[in-house]
Amino acid sequence: MTTQLKLLLTCDYEVFGDGSGDINECVIAPANRLMDICEKYNARITFFVDVCEYWAFKDVEEKGGFEDKNYKPATIIENQLKKIIQRRHDVQLHLHPQWINYEYIGEKKFKVDLTRWRLPNLNGANVEDKPVTEELNKILKKGKETLEYLLKSIDSSYECKSFRAGALCIQPEYLVLKGLIKNGFKYDTSVAPKLFHLGNVTNFDFRNIENLSEYPVSTSLDIKDLSGVLIERPILTVKFNLFDRVKFALFRSSALKDKPCGCEGTVIASVQAISQSRINKIWSKLKSHYKMLDITGIISAEEMMFMLSKALKKAKILRLTGEVPIVAISHCKNLGNEAEIDKFLRIADSSSFIKLESLNEKSAWRE
Ligand SMILES: [Zn+2]
Repeated sequence: MTTQLKLLLTCDYEVFGDGSGDINECVIAPANRLMDICEKYNARITFFVDVCEYWAFKDVEEKGGFEDKNYKPATIIENQLKKIIQRRHDVQLHLHPQWINYEYIGEKKFKVDLTRWRLPNLNGANVEDKPVTEELNKILKKGKETLEYLLKSIDSSYECKSFRAGALCIQPEYLVLKGLIKNGFKYDTSVAPKLFHLGNVTNFDFRNIENLSEYPVSTSLDIKDLSGVLIERPILTVKFNLFDRVKFALFRSSALKDKPCGCEGTVIASVQAISQSRINKIWSKLKSHYKMLDITGIISAEEMMFMLSKALKKAKILRLTGEVPIVAISHCKNLGNEAEIDKFLRIADSSSFIKLESLNEKSAWRE
């Protein structure tokens, strides 16, 4: 039996983590452009929508808090999510809990609560809050209901069944996985195998996870549990040695950008918990690195194809046959390389070992 990679394109739908970034320039316009590119190849893209940000926008909008009464970011988001479903792409759940305790500071600007950055820590510094198990259940339930309420009016078969944690901060995952299962979620896609980021804001460690494609889980993301009802679909990560990194850096076009034109915002800087010695710094530059398949990164079409051919090799070593789901990530707010994505999808579409998720089939995130 042959092996084919089924490429599932996903995109995180949100402004910047500290609340900066214009909704139109950083989210709405790039999401439309991503759909336009995908549709040239009849490919589906699934948007993981940060509903915490949407709730904050809606709250201020409904209270008439925006100085400019014509500024309606929540309504703009609602209209676009409906359009996404009409165009047969998909919408699933993403949560950035720092928005739960937001403060609107005027002139379209928000202050968010960074102590709540990581989902398992969604009560943040407020120890008075209810137990985290209860709060996690509540937020997952409300997130799912928000999307289903909005989108069932467009497609009665719409269901929110898939999830990605904000900034991939799902660990410690025990309670989150329990909450996902309890609320009827089928897929999680918060894992980037072999990657780690040990900051005091963003913090995850997936070094124990090697999986290329989906696997069932129940209480831990590190352990494949054949009786698990939740399926983890990891984001594709590929090892780059020094030679690969130099080769792609040399041929990468200097025209590649990491932000759409007109989109400005702040990336939350995370102070590294481990300070490195000089020797360690040099060593970490020389050693192999794992990279996520992030189609809106500073990345060329050739580099994306290189990652998929590495994934195919690994799939064959693992004797995975048939259609092997492979997840690519992206961010609306990073879309500055449309020509490369277009070229990548054109090559992928004509390649015999890749199958793009088609707009004609049922979404892989709602199966
Ligand atoms: Zn996010």
